Amino acid sequence: MTGLKSDERLQGNELIIEAIGDFNKEQSEENALHITMAILKRIEDDGCMIAPIQFHDNAGNPVKLNALTEEELVKLQENDDLNVSVQAVSDEQTMTDWLPVFTSYESYHKGDTTTVMVHPLAELMAIALDIGLAGVMIDPWDDYALNIPAESLASIMELAMEPGDDGDLTLIQGDITKMDIECIVNAANNTLLGGSGVDGAIHKAAGPQLLEECRTLHGCKTGEAKLTKGYNLPADYVIHTVGPIYSGTLKDESQLFDCYWNSLDLAAQNDIHAIAFPAISTGVFGYPKEEACPVAIDAVLEWLNMNDDYGMKVAFCVHNNEDYAMYRQHLDMILGEPDSER
Ligand code: ADP
Repeated sequence: MTGLKSDERLQGNELIIEAIGDFNKEQSEENALHITMAILKRIEDDGCMIAPIQFHDNAGNPVKLNALTEEELVKLQENDDLNVSVQAVSDEQTMTDWLPVFTSYESYHKGDTTTVMVHPLAELMAIALDIGLAGVMIDPWDDYALNIPAESLASIMELAMEPGDDGDLTLIQGDITKMDIECIVNAANNTLLGGSGVDGAIHKAAGPQLLEECRTLHGCKTGEAKLTKGYNLPADYVIHTVGPIYSGTLKDESQLFDCYWNSLDLAAQNDIHAIAFPAISTGVFGYPKEEACPVAIDAVLEWLNMNDDYGMKVAFCVHNNEDYAMYRQHLDMILGEPDSER
């Protein structure tokens, strides 16, 4: 059991609140997915939430905490074999019990004072499932409160436990315009009319017909993706996606994630089964490579996990040695033991 107040372990929960906020504004499937991704990220980071608890004596009777001294309370909370149970809240309408979890002390203090613990989110979710609760309630006393039903918790836990099969994922160092693969992804800008970096290289290699087709697409929003043919490229198709111009806000990450996710969705909609990505946004758009790399890998692995019956092969095509080493390190860290074949 995790001990007393430590706000550090709660940092990062604002990602979840932000995703819930977006979902409340627009209840789309995509925004629901963002909540799942934010929760998965917190699980990956070993992030914690606050949960109300109740102590029991050896006979199973609740211990009145106000009868204890501060010292006794600390001792109690540090005791691993403690008789402790989480406290559920009832939803009167559906007659179901939920585990309330709080993303911050601020949200927790909006309700009645109870004894609480700061505990890993994954374990709290597992407890809710184990004791047959209807699910967890995130920040029940806030306007944005959200109930996550047990079945969604179970699938989130499943995703968190399976770090993805990398059989369909390769890392290549080179020039993406030379890749003989069904589809390459272009890190384009909103106009889709060409630019510098990988965008310029792709247009140059594909020839003027690519620009002609791009003109008919009327641009592309950040995070979205559009498909063209490959023309003089070895690749049959190009998916043009627009990465975020790095701003240092939480939005960068979700937009970068969307680029990979929406490109893969678009590829699947067009029966494409092999695709190569450059390191989107990490050139003139200024996204720090160390930060962009795990977002790219996470997005692709999650997509492959969620679409494991589709049969998509994904390659990351990086341009230089340092980027290759960085991707290799992150992939090994996420996927486990290094494999010289990869
Ligand atoms: P953005 O505008 O999205 O930042 P850039 O093209 O400036 O896009 O850079 C994105 C990444 O693509 C950079 O990491 C850069 O090193 C890489 N890159 C540039 N040219 C190529 C190429 N021909 N093949 C693969 N990657 C490339």
